[in-house]
Amino acid sequence: MTSPRLRAALADIPAYQAGKPPTGGRGPAYKLSSNENPFPPPQAVVAAAHDALNSVNRYPDMGVSELHAALANRLGVAPECLASGAGSVAILYQLLQAACAEGDEVVYAWRSFEAYPIAVGLTGARSVRVPVDDDGRHNLPAMAAAVNEATKVVLVCTPNNPTGPAVHRAELLTFLDSVPGSVVIAIDEAYHEFIDDPDAIDALDVARKRDNVVVLRTFSKAYGLAGLRIGYAVAPPPLAEGVRKCALPFGVSSVAQAAALAALGCEEELMKQVESIATERRRVQTALQSQGWRIPDAQGNFVWLPLGEAAGAFAEAAVGSGVSVRPFAGDGVRVSIGEAHANDLFLGVADRWLQQVS
Ligand code: PMP
Repeated sequence: MTSPRLRAALADIPAYQAGKPPTGGRGPAYKLSSNENPFPPPQAVVAAAHDALNSVNRYPDMGVSELHAALANRLGVAPECLASGAGSVAILYQLLQAACAEGDEVVYAWRSFEAYPIAVGLTGARSVRVPVDDDGRHNLPAMAAAVNEATKVVLVCTPNNPTGPAVHRAELLTFLDSVPGSVVIAIDEAYHEFIDDPDAIDALDVARKRDNVVVLRTFSKAYGLAGLRIGYAVAPPPLAEGVRKCALPFGVSSVAQAAALAALGCEEELMKQVESIATERRRVQTALQSQGWRIPDAQGNFVWLPLGEAAGAFAEAAVGSGVSVRPFAGDGVRVSIGEAHANDLFLGVADRWLQQVS
């Protein structure tokens, strides 16, 4: 009997692990495991999405043209510079498909976003992982040194999920100057809006001036639309076109486009929420430090506890206290910033943990 054959590259690809929902514990249970926005969407966004349901008998607008016009205006770029997809992770897949084939290499920091090894592996390209430093920061000189003839793409995640720090403007510019212009540099800014580090790069600024830089952004985090799946790339027109060519037809639903447009109309309200999440993040970070934790600078909507082998046990302890967090075996635990009470429950777990081990 012969069995159907799949590509050999699939054998080594890990499955994406979604953050676990909360289970067990007494009292309310909270999900701090997927870096979601704890605020429900504004009513105007819900109403726009609801309205769009009336025409779901029709296929969506394939060019996502209304949203691209609004984003072009908002970001000061031409609509040809934009490509949208079902979350920025879809854009990442499309970009890698556009740039990479069997035998190519993609350089990225590690640990970073867990979709990177999967998305790279699916193209048949090889992942070249450059360890983050002891502060959870990208080691950009080492990443530049890892670039060679086979390198097609470098992924830069800022702020880095899951470790937290943002890449600084000066170090990124030096890095860009030291990498050949034929290599695509994808800057993943999924958590851009949460940054308060004054030295952090605003990648859009850079992308406007460089032919090889693509910026990935999303409506999933600051704009609270994770469940609708919509993200986008800002890139020089030839790169944006390449990304659009690799899109699944009609990947952005009409409901998602309507909600994203409405969300742009509610930016003031949404950015206030973002600011309150960032304020909570600072509170959590300061509390952890005074408990005795040494943690990297948190610039997204999450904090990172470098627990090493104890990651799984810590996550179990958290579940027992009513919060689900995200362990990365052997490495650490990422905890999203949620409702103040959820953050307090987490801080309680963190405090008890240190008391136990000390
Ligand atoms: N990039 C990073 C760094 C992320 O953490 C995530 C979501 N966890 C994404 C991209 C993808 O987000 P989405 O597909 O929801 O836009």
